[in-house]
Amino acid sequence: ASMREERIEKTKTVCTYCGVGCTFDVWTKDRKILKVEPQKDSPANGISSCIKGKFGWDYVNSEDRLTKPLIRKDDYFQEVEWDEALSYVAKRFNEIKAEHGADSLGFIASSKCTNEESFLMQKLSRQVIGTNNVDNCSRYCQSPATKGLFRTVGHGGDSGSINDIAEAEMVITIGSNTAESHPVLASRIKRSQKLFGQKLFVFDLRKHEMGQRADRFFQPNSGTDLVWLSAVTKYIIDQGLENRTFIDKWVNSFEEYKESLSKFTLEYAEELTGISKNELIEIAKEIASVDKLAICWAMGVTQHQLGSDTSTAISNLLLITGNYMRNGTGAYPLRGHNNVQGCSDFGSMPNFFPGYEKVADDEVRNRYEKAWNTEIPAEPGKDNHEMINAIHEGKLNSLFVIGEDTGIVDANINYVTAAFEKLDFFVVQDLFLTHTAQYADVILPAAPSLEKEGTFTNTERRIQRLYKALEPVGESKPDWIILQDLANEMGYRWNYKHPSEIMNEAASLAPLFAGVSYDLLEGYNSLQWPVERDGTDTPLLFKDGFPFKDRKAKLYPLDFQLQYSTNEEYDLHVNNGRMLEHFHEGNMTFKSPGIVREMPESFIEISTELAEEREIKEGAEVKLTSEAGEATGIIHITDRVRGKELYLPLNANGKSAVNYLTDNRVDKDTNTPAYKEIAVKMEVIKKK
Ligand code: SF4
Repeated sequence: ASMREERIEKTKTVCTYCGVGCTFDVWTKDRKILKVEPQKDSPANGISSCIKGKFGWDYVNSEDRLTKPLIRKDDYFQEVEWDEALSYVAKRFNEIKAEHGADSLGFIASSKCTNEESFLMQKLSRQVIGTNNVDNCSRYCQSPATKGLFRTVGHGGDSGSINDIAEAEMVITIGSNTAESHPVLASRIKRSQKLFGQKLFVFDLRKHEMGQRADRFFQPNSGTDLVWLSAVTKYIIDQGLENRTFIDKWVNSFEEYKESLSKFTLEYAEELTGISKNELIEIAKEIASVDKLAICWAMGVTQHQLGSDTSTAISNLLLITGNYMRNGTGAYPLRGHNNVQGCSDFGSMPNFFPGYEKVADDEVRNRYEKAWNTEIPAEPGKDNHEMINAIHEGKLNSLFVIGEDTGIVDANINYVTAAFEKLDFFVVQDLFLTHTAQYADVILPAAPSLEKEGTFTNTERRIQRLYKALEPVGESKPDWIILQDLANEMGYRWNYKHPSEIMNEAASLAPLFAGVSYDLLEGYNSLQWPVERDGTDTPLLFKDGFPFKDRKAKLYPLDFQLQYSTNEEYDLHVNNGRMLEHFHEGNMTFKSPGIVREMPESFIEISTELAEEREIKEGAEVKLTSEAGEATGIIHITDRVRGKELYLPLNANGKSAVNYLTDNRVDKDTNTPAYKEIAVKMEVIKKK
């Protein structure tokens, strides 16, 4: 081969975008990304990928990458050497801890970083600082789904694999724009529908692609999914269509649960959800008649004040119909970010150590205290939402945020950025000078997935390795190295030479990962947790019952009160979600020219009826005002939304960021912001 060809390299990596966890070979020459090629050995995607996985990588070579640490001096940022940056951070952390106590510091990990980096972030927080104030962005999306599953079946993850969804006789998706948010997973569903006649029922506010493809599409009123789910469950039980054998053997609290359903009559559900009685009966009969049902859901369910309860209602329905413990059945919360599953799994949570063991449990805490030669508080720490509130109350003085544009993605950004301004000391570690980083005192330049080794865990609990394809740009470093350097600067002796050693430590401490090792994860190999000591993994959860003492699941009684509605002044409801081409706040995708060409700007969707009623033309510019703030954007008229429903892609940044409109309302059980509960008024500022 010529010299030129010799410099071409092929490296296995894992997609950095959504939770499907596609894996590919990336071909590089120097820093140039030549192509991204899925492999038939890729467990989640085979030879498929979507536009983001295929073309969304150029951001790694963006001119905007941070290449040196920055310290704020007066009103501008000055480039400094790593030594100066780290000793400054260490000194300020120590001072703040000495003055206000360990709990006056907070840590936010990143679901775009690796499992090993999440492990080190919570170790930094718990061992080096001595606080449980550590959380991650699953608080913004998936915590309610995890909560609903913990309550009922004891594990918060997907019940089976993506393959199981493809094998189900019937798939229901609720509040999930699957074709755009989890494209490769959606294509598996589309294929099963076409090849095996898999039934697809879609419930959503917006008639997106999956809504159009569905065998049946329903548009329940916003925030009422719990009601139709419970009414359908009640009808199934009332008609004696429940799975008696399964319930008798595997399920507790049936009678108590059944009583709690009394209010969920068909009439009540019809009135609240807008789905007719007849339709509810059809849905119930269809569900009761199939042998294998899988239910997928996402942020349309979770980002409500009753997000955890609605997730619980999904699990209750699956239990009543015996749709757990078999291939092709189960609960599938679709994780958003590539590593939103792993970031929580590996302990960056205020109430859990790695593997979801409670910090309040003495036996568990002693295990970590012994291993790390330290004392860890028994009280759970503050979650993201509580940290922001605590800053406003003067109880949290320092924040360290990794790879998260909190000032755009958290709800009510005017409130969040006002909190940033009150901090005594703020450190941001990221690839770019993000909106959030502009409020920082110190910015540490990190390296993206292509420039480091580690593991990610996808939505089906699958742990997969990524390998280094490129050297970190400039003086940027992988997050695990920065965290280690910082811990050592603060007087500790962390000595990980490779992320595999971090994984070994996690495996030795957390039973959920007991048998995980880099050897077993070599190349395209993967492991789905729990992983036993001998390396046996668990594609299908709940093989021998549920992880409770008597191995039985629990039905969880629920109530319902409507949490919010539009009113005379704020008369429109704003829904929001992803679009195919962009990801999240767009820090990566808007820096990838291949993607920006396809989808250069964001938009506000309104219905044809509303456009006619208010005489608004396509392309007009409007201002939306909620009780929390205002946003502006360009109108797109569509029949995907109906009546007084608006839709705003959450990928918008700048003036159309949806979080100028969201407020401080949260899910009552997890503090996940109720992003989907926004009432606004609209005025045209520029006619077309
Ligand atoms: Fe990446 Fe998700 Fe697209 Fe797969 S489906 S390529 S994981 S963004």
